Amino acid sequence: MPNALQHIRCFLLDMDGTIYLGNKLLPGAGELISVLRRLGIEFLFLTNNSSRDKQAYVEKLAALGIGVRRNQVLTSGEATAIYLQGIKPGAKVFLLGTPTLAQEFAAHGFQLVSRAGDPDYVVLGFDTTLTYQKLWDACDLIRAGTEYVATHPDFNCPLEGGKYMPDAGAMIAFIEASTGRRPKVIGKPNREIVEAALTWTRVGREEIAMVGDRLYTDIAMGKEAGLTSILVLSGETRQEDLERSQFRPDYVFASVGQLAEALSREADDRGD
Ligand SMILES: [Mg+2]
Repeated sequence: MPNALQHIRCFLLDMDGTIYLGNKLLPGAGELISVLRRLGIEFLFLTNNSSRDKQAYVEKLAALGIGVRRNQVLTSGEATAIYLQGIKPGAKVFLLGTPTLAQEFAAHGFQLVSRAGDPDYVVLGFDTTLTYQKLWDACDLIRAGTEYVATHPDFNCPLEGGKYMPDAGAMIAFIEASTGRRPKVIGKPNREIVEAALTWTRVGREEIAMVGDRLYTDIAMGKEAGLTSILVLSGETRQEDLERSQFRPDYVFASVGQLAEALSREADDRGD
């Protein structure tokens, strides 16, 4: 049995398709944040996009009318830094990443080195500054046995107007074609990003819910990590996809607005 919604003390929130679509806020997103604040329930926005840092999401959400603090956003890039800190703090990292991801790693105490600097890890992010030389160096290191970690597995990053940018998963495929090796991956649907979120909250996983619009990432990860899982039908998933899917969310709502109403109603019934 899933935990009753009234026992959830922390919500992990997907953004695209859940809170906004492109540059439009989805119905009820503002209400959800208000209800969570009113009830004193924690929330953390999760994103697999490691090309941007949390400040970019704070600013995007603010422009849509949702004011959050920097520590209420967790990117797969930061989650990867937290994961590696738990294994080898201060390690030498060869990074395929944007300048903001490099700053994230430096801020977590890692030494960013070139191929010649004998790195402990190759870390692959969504590197929109990627060059052939960086890919070549990474392949040499990975072929020679250097530990290899990627921030997230998405093949494409959706853009407005039905367009796509090739994402980290496409770079993983390139490196695999050359070296035969695949990385340890941290972002959704892998539970490591949830483990990183658990370092942020004191709430235990039995009181945490994952809210998102994708069955095979958000809901799969919620299940895998032992969280309550909540699907919203405001993004990618249609009702008929849900009926055919192997992934069974604990709750399904048309949008986060409907989730906000349910939380509000339960609180009123309790007299909170
Ligand atoms: Mg989404």
